Amino acid sequence: MSRPLEQGIEYLKGVGPSRADLLRKELQIYTIGDLMTYYPFRYVDKTKFHTIREVQSEEEAVQLRGILREVELLGEGKAKRLQAKLRDATGMIKLVWFQGIGFVEKQLQINAEYVVYGKPQFFREEASIIHPEIEIVSEANTTKALTMQPIYSSTERLKTRGLDSKGIGRVQQAVFSYITEEYVKENLSDEIIQKFKFPSRLLALRNIHFPPTLAAQQQAELRLKFEELFFMQLRLLQLKGQRSNSIRGFIFAKVGAQFNDFYSNKLPFQLTEAQKRVLREIRIDVGSGKQMNRLIQGDVGSGKTIVALMAMLLALDNGTQAALMAPTEILAQQHFIGIAELVKGMNIEVAVLTGSTRVKERRRVLAGLLDGSIHIVIGTHALIEPTVQFQSLGFAVIDEQHRFGVAQRASLWKKNADGSATVPPHILVMSATPIPRTLAMTTYGDLDVSVIDELPPGRTPIVTLHKYNTQRERVMGFMREEIAKGRQVYVVYPLIEESEKLDLANLMQGYADIQSFFPLPQYQISIVHGKMKPADKEFEMQRFVRGETNIMVATTVIEVGVNVPNASVMVIENTERFGLAQLHQLRGRVGRGAAESQCILLSSFKLSQEARFRIETMCRTTNGFEIAEADMQLRGAGNIDGTQQSGAAALRLADLSKDGEILRTARVVATEILEADLYLQKPENLPLLTHIAIENAQKRGGWGRIS
Ligand code: ADP
Ligand code: MG
Repeated sequence: MSRPLEQGIEYLKGVGPSRADLLRKELQIYTIGDLMTYYPFRYVDKTKFHTIREVQSEEEAVQLRGILREVELLGEGKAKRLQAKLRDATGMIKLVWFQGIGFVEKQLQINAEYVVYGKPQFFREEASIIHPEIEIVSEANTTKALTMQPIYSSTERLKTRGLDSKGIGRVQQAVFSYITEEYVKENLSDEIIQKFKFPSRLLALRNIHFPPTLAAQQQAELRLKFEELFFMQLRLLQLKGQRSNSIRGFIFAKVGAQFNDFYSNKLPFQLTEAQKRVLREIRIDVGSGKQMNRLIQGDVGSGKTIVALMAMLLALDNGTQAALMAPTEILAQQHFIGIAELVKGMNIEVAVLTGSTRVKERRRVLAGLLDGSIHIVIGTHALIEPTVQFQSLGFAVIDEQHRFGVAQRASLWKKNADGSATVPPHILVMSATPIPRTLAMTTYGDLDVSVIDELPPGRTPIVTLHKYNTQRERVMGFMREEIAKGRQVYVVYPLIEESEKLDLANLMQGYADIQSFFPLPQYQISIVHGKMKPADKEFEMQRFVRGETNIMVATTVIEVGVNVPNASVMVIENTERFGLAQLHQLRGRVGRGAAESQCILLSSFKLSQEARFRIETMCRTTNGFEIAEADMQLRGAGNIDGTQQSGAAALRLADLSKDGEILRTARVVATEILEADLYLQKPENLPLLTHIAIENAQKRGGWGRIS
């Protein structure tokens, strides 16, 4: 037994080959170590007895001890029940059974002393416990077994083989009866353990399964959560540190003519403090000699583009080219038009390259990038094709990162035709989907994160209102008023794959209703949905962009990108079916001009608690970070878009929506350790190094498990 934690579970007392097989299949428990980290999801607290007078709330289950009196059968039919009274020195409580009445009645002994456990209920201020656990007082249930009992989740198949929660508990008991400190090696350094007064690793594991007291359970949980988060951060930060040690980056040493000219003569407004701060962060990065990998998170309209442009000018000033990659053709064109306009008269060559660029123009752009005569190129995925080569690409911006994977980001590194291919461009990723800080620390652990948390001044905030379907006529009336003022309106319908046909029919019905309320020729209406041919879609979009139509009826295809400052009303149908992130993205389509904008959330009258919370959140705030935080509280960290593959999903005990404080502490500790000892070579860090090595070995072995 050199490494007992890696041993299979079939030799454990009460397991055997066929149950071991079932545990592997049903719960992915392969080894003793896996079993020990199969944690209970809750506990039954039987550490103390309550007096009957103390029973005050329905919140918590209670354990009582008293004499049983007056057992009687009451009621008829469905109301038929068995009732007993339990009495102690402080009072009386009713115990009630609706099922198994005959059986229970036979067991109950009047005037005997019982231990009773269950959740109280109150009816007219009188407490009762329905279907309590009940046992005659014995040494076992009054002195020995005063513990927190672990509850494990199990499966139907496991239950048929005796491995229900209690059965799994017995197997855990078997493990902890022989495991010693020698097998469960400490994986944190003495310093950390002492600093936080953590229990040892073995004690923490033992106490998470079989806590003698609530306090012991809490200490164990804290330590194990810390461990998970700490090692996750340690890995991420170590990788990042090692990468920046080994990868050289272009050094943008000077702020030159282009940047200064733009700043003094072209910049059409004052930068916000947040924009200035992010620009400073970028300038420090690109001056460091290391490759920058930075994410800017900022709400729609927070002004990320100008920051990206100024960083690109810095690249130009230092003799390199810059690229900006957008997720759609429309966005790429919009960026091209906007940026070409901003740098007009500056002797900067800007080009656009997308899938639909004509052959001749394409040839011109490719040649210009290769000989360096084009300074800035804006495009779509087309930019990462191998035929696109630069003379010297020093800076690459990726807008709306959710659509680009890590691999695609990396393909930008190999773009330089000359010998500088070993120097990758600095990478700036821009995301308009704010995520909570705790998630950013895990999902984008390999990126440095900058936040633009301030909107440019002079925006009129978007007013968000919740209306029920029954108020639709009035909403249409409001739309008519706004159109009369020359504004444009979006009406958005949900369309998801699972219910595509129904949704499409719903959309078409809505379109018909709107057409009859807004008749031709006075009103023009566009319609866009995912089932249309791209060319038709584009045609309709452009009509709306040019202001030729008053209303855009659409599915969520308009979510990304479209910029129509004159559109100031957003009506969302079936709001209850949209997630918070999506609602926030949709609302970002309005509020882009000077006019006051409205977002109207239509829903049916009957709403789930969750849907109501989402709608209330939208009405309360327009801050993307607050909305993301609410979304995480609602759905848990593992379900937030784009984080499924991140470490968040691998956490067993820690929960990023609740354990932000532990995460921040773990990150600080990891940072301090790595700053002094990036490769964990110091003797005091040996436990950490060993733990990472073991985990890596298990991960490699882990692939073999998928058979
Ligand atoms: P996003 O962060 O959504 O990409 P943009 O960069 O498109 O936002 O900026 C939105 C609008 O705000 C643009 O019209 C831009 O010119 C303008 N803008 C950006 N920064 C400022 C600022 N500091 N003051 C005023 N307007 C600004
Ligand atoms: Mg943008």
